[in-house]
Amino acid sequence: MHERSCDIAVIGAGTAGLAAFRAAREAGADAVLIEAGPGGTTCARVGCMPSKLLITAADAADAARRSGRFGIETGPVRVDGPAVLARVREERDRFVAGVREGVARFPESAHIDGRARFDGAATLIVDARTRLSFRAAIVATGSRPVVPGTLRDLGDCVLTTDTLFEITDLPASWRCSAADRWGSNSPRPSPASASPSACSTPARTLPPCAMPASPSRRRASSAPR
Ligand SMILES: Cc1cc2nc3c(=O)[nH]c(=O)nc-3n(C[C@H](O)[C@H](O)[C@H](O)COP(=O)(O)OP(=O)(O)OC[C@H]3O[C@@H](n4cnc5c(N)ncnc54)[C@H](O)[C@@H]3O)c2cc1C
Repeated sequence: MHERSCDIAVIGAGTAGLAAFRAAREAGADAVLIEAGPGGTTCARVGCMPSKLLITAADAADAARRSGRFGIETGPVRVDGPAVLARVREERDRFVAGVREGVARFPESAHIDGRARFDGAATLIVDARTRLSFRAAIVATGSRPVVPGTLRDLGDCVLTTDTLFEITDLPASWRCSAADRWGSNSPRPSPASASPSACSTPARTLPPCAMPASPSRRRASSAPR
């Protein structure tokens, strides 16, 4: 087993771990960053960034549909689900690649790929390959979605934020925007008066699971690993 020692071991190369690692290095500490997954951070891969891309696409469709109130006629607005999702993934992959490139620029001895577990108060074992002793450890291992037991029988039909951005088309029920419900130029009603049953787009359940059988957490991206 490879033996290494350091001042600070940072477990997890997410947003928190990267910030801690950089701060430790800037303070002159010998810091080591350990990452079990493909990297790229939850924020860029399956969190803040792809979700905001999707929301922005929805806002764009909504704004186009409601533009008549400003005297701007756009004609019928059609949402191209596969194109929306392809762009989300393309941008998401760019963000993830940017994060990974940043990590790749750290000195090779300062980051380790693998899953860390504690083997005592001052030692980590990484993938049974490296024994890393440290003076201080920072646990920045983030979180992951949990599917409640009652929903597990639905298998891959349950989407989490780890799988959502990999679907190839938007479910029809999502395409039911405010404009579908209340007309393109009508003011948006208050949430209390908004009734999904008023939707003119028939809600459909997801097509028989389009997801791969067992999408592994955050690995489905086409981003380089
Ligand atoms: C859909 C969605 C939208 C979001 N939108 C926003 C938003 O708009 N604004 C906002 O502020 N936040 C948002 N968040 C939350 C935000 O993304 C997270 O809070 C943040 O990314 C968590 O960062 P982190 O560094 O704690 O964890 P992560 O980025 O998850 O990093 C943890 C890392 O630790 C690694 N790891 C775990 N265990 C080990 C181990 N034993 N050994 C080695 N490595 C390990 C994991 O592989 C992972 O890479 C959103 C989250 C989701 C899911």
